[in-house]
Amino acid sequence: MFLFRRRPKAAIIPRQEHNISRRDIDPDALKVLYRLAYLHHKAYLVGGSVRDLLLGRTPKDFDVGTDARPNEIRRQFRNCFLVGRRFRLAHIVFGKKVIETATFRKAPDPDAVQDEHGLYQYEDNTYGTPEEDALRRDFTVNGLFYDVETFSVIDYVGGLKDLKAKIIRSIGDPNIRFREDPVRMMRAVRFAAKLGFDVAPNDVKAIRRYASELENASDSRLCEEIQRLFVRGAAERCFRLAYDYGILRALLPTLAAWLAGDAKRREAVWASLAALDAVSAEEETTPAVGLAALYWPMVREAAEAKRAGKARANLRHLRRTAAEEALAPAVKKYRLPRAVWMTAVDVMELFTRLRERPNPENARDVRFVNHGIFPEVRLGARALSRLEPDKAWALEEWLAFWRKAGPLSRLPEGAEPPALPNPHSRRPRHPRRKSRRRGDKHPAEDKEQTHAND
Ligand code: ATP
Ligand code: MG
Repeated sequence: MFLFRRRPKAAIIPRQEHNISRRDIDPDALKVLYRLAYLHHKAYLVGGSVRDLLLGRTPKDFDVGTDARPNEIRRQFRNCFLVGRRFRLAHIVFGKKVIETATFRKAPDPDAVQDEHGLYQYEDNTYGTPEEDALRRDFTVNGLFYDVETFSVIDYVGGLKDLKAKIIRSIGDPNIRFREDPVRMMRAVRFAAKLGFDVAPNDVKAIRRYASELENASDSRLCEEIQRLFVRGAAERCFRLAYDYGILRALLPTLAAWLAGDAKRREAVWASLAALDAVSAEEETTPAVGLAALYWPMVREAAEAKRAGKARANLRHLRRTAAEEALAPAVKKYRLPRAVWMTAVDVMELFTRLRERPNPENARDVRFVNHGIFPEVRLGARALSRLEPDKAWALEEWLAFWRKAGPLSRLPEGAEPPALPNPHSRRPRHPRRKSRRRGDKHPAEDKEQTHAND
């Protein structure tokens, strides 16, 4: 049988008709693009960077697509490392920055490697043309190219139209694309939230139909993508969409079941995530703080239920247990990093300490600001305190006290402050048989009376 393959026609948008200026492109990415073009290769900026530049946003990273093969790329750049087994990518390294440079590839021939459901395997890719490379990408707005030689934008997939209409739309049939790689459903809500776009109606239908397929995706990819759902400044929207489309039910069934059929609980979670957004719009938070905001309403309810009838209960302890129990299914299924989930538990347990003013004379308060957990507990308190505005909070006082008496106060002049330290990122080298050194106590071990306003 003779089969017609639709050959996509590219729309080419010349420099004067789009807003991408080379001034906005990372100079190292430009170096890579120019060198490849000089060697008579096609060299395009691809993926999220083109999308973000067209939207006037600052891209997180700059990826390059080229028809040069990985070995040729390596020969041309001394600072190049090839990574990946199935499909080799070139990482061109400039200090801490990596410009990921990939040879154009196509989605594999569906006749060649079909699984039992008639879907082809996502990872088994081979080299292809620029058109094929555009077509294998996930969403139209992610399938645009910028050609450094002509300064034009190349659109094989209708991405510009969708970018203008603010729509996240799968390239090709969403019923196939989401089953091929269910993680794309999470990416759809993430991009919709991050960019303030809508998901195309057919894509929404397909997500509702196939969200449960997420249960079969690789746990390590899901673990990463879950942490990315706490979109900076738009986590509320992202989780609302994930809940509406059935993604949350597939990912975090215990939480989704707790939310289902109870509008009050949902409102509490959306408010908590909105509070997180208000903070993350101003300063960067972490996935642990995000998890704390997501689970806090459920944990608060569980801790209160545990307390019922116990006059002398230690609320902080109850909260810790409730937080550990709430997170346990996700921790187990996705093997969430210890550094992330332990910190989320700490935040939920300890954030109310920031209600009382710090006392510089109190060794316990000095220990707290010097503990690695403090920065994230403070961020969590900044967010969750918004849920209880009628209570007194001493957030500013704690921040000032941390600056004055915390670890930064001992940095030599002019030294770079370290990234957020995380006390849970390494296992203790020795079993905790002996008591730990003084000053190295976990703040949760500072036993004290539960405050009436806790
Ligand atoms: P971000 O700003 O979040 O990094 P991004 O669009 O750059 O967004 P990446 O995950 O860095 O997203 O991926 C880079 C590009 O690779 C995407 O723009 C898309 O074209 C393609 N891509 C990534 N993941 C997939 C996938 N699962 N299926 C198809 N294409 C994908
Ligand atoms: Mg990217």
